[in-house]
Amino acid sequence: MNLERAYPAWFATCALVGALIGKAMGHGAIEGLTTGMLVAASPIILLGLAHVALAFWRPVLPPCRCGRCNHSQYGLEAPAPGDAAAGGAPLRFRCPRCDRSYEFTPGRFDELSSAGHVVPYMRHTKWGRWKPA
Ligand SMILES: [Zn+2]
Repeated sequence: MNLERAYPAWFATCALVGALIGKAMGHGAIEGLTTGMLVAASPIILLGLAHVALAFWRPVLPPCRCGRCNHSQYGLEAPAPGDAAAGGAPLRFRCPRCDRSYEFTPGRFDELSSAGHVVPYMRHTKWGRWKPA
């Protein structure tokens, strides 16, 4: 049984059991059903909270060198025509505050100098956090 089928069954079972317990305990079937639905949704809520905590601990992109731009503020640049044909070309980002450009390849985030040279900036550690290169 895969998760797409198991989760609706889990949700219905929790709601039904909650309604039965609520009715048997005298609190009412609707109150029990509501509690059962909250119990059924708790894994999704906990996974969402874990995802937010992980995003703070290990952001997708490191902060800019200027320190005024975080991972969600970078602008994605269109790839150069030659890069698009190569396939698997690094993604380019630009800081909206200081106008620095960066290249992202899996595990690396390098600055592009104004002359077009790649200057190592950050790389992923073993646990996926960013560390100066
Ligand atoms: Zn910047």
